[in-house]
Amino acid sequence: MERNIITQAIVLHSRRDGVNNNNLTILSLDLGIITVRAFGSKTSKKAPKAFRFQEGQFFIYFNPTNKQYILKDVNLISSHDLISTEFSKILSASLMSEIILKTYNDNLAFTYNLFTKCLDLLEDNSINEDIIIIQFILRIIKDHGFIEDLLHCPSCDKIYTNDEIIYFSDSLTVPSCKNCSNSSNMVLPPKARKYLNLSLSVSVEEAIAIKLFDSTASRIKAYVIKWMIKIIGHPLKSLNIYN
Ligand SMILES: [Zn+2]
Repeated sequence: MERNIITQAIVLHSRRDGVNNNNLTILSLDLGIITVRAFGSKTSKKAPKAFRFQEGQFFIYFNPTNKQYILKDVNLISSHDLISTEFSKILSASLMSEIILKTYNDNLAFTYNLFTKCLDLLEDNSINEDIIIIQFILRIIKDHGFIEDLLHCPSCDKIYTNDEIIYFSDSLTVPSCKNCSNSSNMVLPPKARKYLNLSLSVSVEEAIAIKLFDSTASRIKAYVIKWMIKIIGHPLKSLNIYN
C-alpha cells in the first residue's frame, strides 16, 4: 500500500487520545471508514487537525509496520461550521454519523454524498431538521435493500388501499399490512406512508421541498428512527442525548 495517501473524506467522529492527540474516524471515498491519528492536535497550533463533520482532502501517511494512519494535512472543502452553532444540529449530525458507522457497507460514494448533502442542508435554517433526518434514514434503509416502495406489503404482496394504515413486520424488518405484522408499536397512517413512498422516488432536494407540518415530520422521524434501530438491532447512543 502507498505510504502517502491523498483522499477526500469527512470526519464522522473524533476522540481524544491522551493529552495531545486525537483519533479521527473518517469516511474516505477511497478507503472506507478508517481511524487516523492526529498527533499534537490538542495542544499544538501548527499540528494538522480536523474536526467532526469537516469535509476535505486529507493527506495521510500510512505506517505499514503498525498499520496506523497518521494525519499530515487537510485542505478543507467544507467546514460545516454552522452545525456547531446549534445543539440540535450537532445532535442531528451525530445521529447520522452513528448510523453510518453502524450500517456501513461498500456503497461509499452513495453514503458519502448523502451525508455531505444532509450536512449542507442542516446548515440551512429554513429547513426542518426532522425532514433531513427522515430523508437520510429512509435512503440508508433503501440502500441496504429493505424497501423499494411503500405501495404493497412485502410479505404477502397485497397492494395497499388508498386509506390503509400499515403496520410493521419484525421478522422482515419492514412495514407490512396488518395481517403480516407482528409489531404492536409501529403504525404508519396513510398520509405518512404516501409521503415516505413519494420520497423514495425523488431526489433529496425534491423530497425536502415537499410540505409537511412540523408535528407530522416529528412523528415520521420517530417512526424511521425506530425502523433503523430494528435494522441495527440495538439502541443508538446519540439518541440518549435527545431524550
Ligand atoms: Zn401482508
